[in-house]
Amino acid sequence: VERFKAAMKQAGLKLTPQRMEVFREIAGREDHPDAVGVFTSIRERMPSVSLDTVYRTLWMLKDLGLISVIGSNRESARFDGNLGKHHHFVCVRCGLVRDFEKEELNALPIENDVRKYGSVLETQIEVHGICNACRNTHGDSITSE
Ligand SMILES: [Zn+2]
Ligand SMILES: [Zn+2]
Repeated sequence: VERFKAAMKQAGLKLTPQRMEVFREIAGREDHPDAVGVFTSIRERMPSVSLDTVYRTLWMLKDLGLISVIGSNRESARFDGNLGKHHHFVCVRCGLVRDFEKEELNALPIENDVRKYGSVLETQIEVHGICNACRNTHGDSITSE
């Protein structure tokens, strides 16, 4: 929260209760919510907040480097308050996203493989799978859909 206040001040942005609440929400969650998820949760505490405000605040926080974004599509982007080096497990069923860390993955030797496109700044692995909750709900009938 102190980091947030400092960054807002430095950027000359007003510290509104709504912005504060959006940041708190992202920093306190590990499920990488999308904008609607953040909005739904904040509205319970702060009924005056609008989806538009939440949306703009999230992208502002991203521009300030206070949160990161998963996915390249602006509409379905999910927001991540964990700025440390980490990777993601993504459930292909329900969209659950969880962080995991593995030192070796941070330095995969893939520089040569992507050279024709550009240079590597950081490597983030996205693992696709079926989360435990989905597996328990659906048993082993994964292929029967
Ligand atoms: Zn799942
Ligand atoms: Zn994450």
